[in-house]
Amino acid sequence: MSSNINSTERKIIVESKRTSKISTSVIRKMFEIAEKAVKSGKSVINLSIGEPDFRTDSKILERAYEAMKKGYTQYTSNFGIQEIREAISELYKKKGFNVDPEMVMVTCGASEALLNISLAFIERGSEVIIPSPNFISYFTYAKLCEAKVKQIRTHDNNFKVKADEINEIMSKKVSTIFLNYPNNPTGAIADKRELISIAEIAQDYNAIVISDEIYDEIFYEVKPFSLVNFDNVIVVNGFSKSLAMTGWRIGYVIADKNLLDPILKVHQVNGVCAPAFAQKAVADTIFEGDYYKIVKAMVSEFKKRRDFMYKSLRNIGIDVIKPEGAFYMFPRVPIDCFKFVEYFSEKGVIFTPGTPFGEGNERYIRISYAASLEKIKAAMKILEDEYPRLL
Ligand code: PMP
Repeated sequence: MSSNINSTERKIIVESKRTSKISTSVIRKMFEIAEKAVKSGKSVINLSIGEPDFRTDSKILERAYEAMKKGYTQYTSNFGIQEIREAISELYKKKGFNVDPEMVMVTCGASEALLNISLAFIERGSEVIIPSPNFISYFTYAKLCEAKVKQIRTHDNNFKVKADEINEIMSKKVSTIFLNYPNNPTGAIADKRELISIAEIAQDYNAIVISDEIYDEIFYEVKPFSLVNFDNVIVVNGFSKSLAMTGWRIGYVIADKNLLDPILKVHQVNGVCAPAFAQKAVADTIFEGDYYKIVKAMVSEFKKRRDFMYKSLRNIGIDVIKPEGAFYMFPRVPIDCFKFVEYFSEKGVIFTPGTPFGEGNERYIRISYAASLEKIKAAMKILEDEYPRLL
């Protein structure tokens, strides 16, 4: 059917104000640069990756295939299959927390959970507190919800936010506080007492804390504390990192049942449900006792790499804080981060510039050690040779 508007009258379609404020993630751009370099035949070491470099364990693949054959190929309940909700509840029981399976909602990765929660609780025009540096997506969620971001710089406190600093900028206008420990991009783990104080401050002001605990099993010396079971805290977690399952899209939310209801309103039209066979494969992996075996094997590799990389950076004279968890470091660099990243991508090593991770990060880069020790050693050699030229 032809319309009555002739082509000269037709306006160019513009995107919504909501999305026009969002730039395409630099990380993805960096990934494309790396892929391009690989395709051109140039040898590059990519240390910008945000996922474990391990394949999903073969036993999980087998369980998924068995699940598919049994018919786990269709929609599930919006909350997820009962088995996985119970399995998640078991995991938290082992950590000493009481999480009723009814408090768990399974989502398509942690990302879907974060968007659902943001749309459910971030009021347009309200304030959202994000400590800097932090996971880039939080800034995007705040923009999508047309909220005002208030950042707190954590550089002088080993990248850990202090409850006092939150208290200082807290007001009734604040709808949400994003927390992420172990942290992407710094690997910092916040103090239990500070976290509890933040949850209490938020409660006083009727604000929500979104505690993104996706790296909770990837820690070295200090065990991270979970804010699960605090009335106004919504915990986001998933199996992308802990079971090296980024492509399977299994995340989850843990929250009080009355908070799950608004989240469900978005989830039912967004992710709807996570892939059924993947849910079943994760549940079976937990119940058959393989979950901790898989994570621990990965973490012991990450620790070796962290120790090597940290020592190398220190020896080169680079200012860096030793990460306590996740698989990233956030060192300070002597020139603008984009120039630094560009310089080293030409030398064959890809890092991520710090700027997109929030305010005050222009002189920082993120280095991921989700790469083999062999690659890390080669990258550190290039860094050692080239770094003095930048000073
Ligand atoms: N939160 C943080 C802090 C992350 O680093 C990531 C992945 N990079 C996510 C959430 C998203 O995880 P998922 O793949 O499960 O959506």
